[in-house]
Amino acid sequence: MKSLGSFRRKFAPWNDPEAKPFIAIENVTKKFADFTAVDDLSLNIYNREFFALLGASGCGKSTLLRMLAGFEEPTAGRILIDGQDMRGIPPYKRPVNMMFQSYALFPHMTVEGNIAFGLKQDGMAKGDIEARVAEMLKLVKLERFAKRKPHQLSGGQRQRVALARAVAKRPKVLLLDEPLGALDKKLREETQFELMDLQMKLGLTFVVVTHDQEEAMTMADRIAVMDKGKVMQVATPAEVYEAPNSKFVADFIGNVNMFEGTAAAVANGKIDIAIAPENFTIRTDASKSCAVGQPVGFAIRPEKIRVSRKQPADPSINSAHGELWDIAYFGDMTVFHVKLESGRIIKAASLNAVRTVEDPLGYDDMVWVNFDTDAGIVLTA
Ligand code: ATP
Repeated sequence: MKSLGSFRRKFAPWNDPEAKPFIAIENVTKKFADFTAVDDLSLNIYNREFFALLGASGCGKSTLLRMLAGFEEPTAGRILIDGQDMRGIPPYKRPVNMMFQSYALFPHMTVEGNIAFGLKQDGMAKGDIEARVAEMLKLVKLERFAKRKPHQLSGGQRQRVALARAVAKRPKVLLLDEPLGALDKKLREETQFELMDLQMKLGLTFVVVTHDQEEAMTMADRIAVMDKGKVMQVATPAEVYEAPNSKFVADFIGNVNMFEGTAAAVANGKIDIAIAPENFTIRTDASKSCAVGQPVGFAIRPEKIRVSRKQPADPSINSAHGELWDIAYFGDMTVFHVKLESGRIIKAASLNAVRTVEDPLGYDDMVWVNFDTDAGIVLTA
């Protein structure tokens, strides 16, 4: 597995100006009557990439996937796959296959029959079909279940049959619409790793639609965060988490404390932000072009905030005083809610690295939330 891991670590064709995208979505708009589901969207997806379209219900991600599959045509713009314009090309002639959330397995057919179906339709020779089906069963570890019908399988097994059927024809791109949507949490987590492993082994390009950000963060090389038919940011999971480009993305991805304020001082590429209700100035290391008096946002993740009984002596550390309002223990971590005098609740999270803590913090304790100048992100969009 080491070689696959190192492949993934070095894999970043989107940073290579010479690299050609495998899928090019160019200014694509999709309208249903006067409703715009996808709005002038452009996106490049590279060969062997595991790409996630992430967004809330109704943001247009499934519509985009359906246009890649050929079930919908763009109202404007174009889609190129492997350099070929897909306009007018029916789904079965595209180098893509789609796995639906419902799996759409044929209930009267065995597992083998389901996997073989598309190959038979393509007129593949019987011996080749048998060999391919055996290969697929092995790939998804369902050899023992070949003769069963879908209703005799668990949800996770059905998901694997659907996957085997979708990759049996060796498409270059697999489109997956909420592939793990029907599985319970634990199975979802296991299956995420199976999917990543499978994608690596087969060397395919995966485009996955999901509304589950943890799932996208775990699996994808890059994520496109969508809202109202538009892409808000396309970046690696670490980038969308650590460096969201807008308040929308910061708020959408993970847990965040969001402050609205104004730039109080801008010097040497460092911005101080005045937060009005608390009369609190946040000092940052951010080097963004911004004018004094301009409204700016500040986003900081709970795990970047510490909670202490004493105010940090170092004056360069941002700190605010408040009451420990709520404590949620999650086993691996504890989340503290600290209420400032203004009533604002600050969320802080810390890993529970040690089993017992001397003098643990308790409800109603007066504490200091504090964080470093480089712990958050200044947002001007
Ligand atoms: P979900 O996660 O709920 O599936 P989504 O982000 O995938 O959401 P889409 O299915 O792409 O969203 O739908 C985007 C918008 O387009 C929605 O408001 C939907 O109602 C609308 N829409 C989708 N298909 C059609 C259609 N055939 N006719 C009219 N409106 C449609």
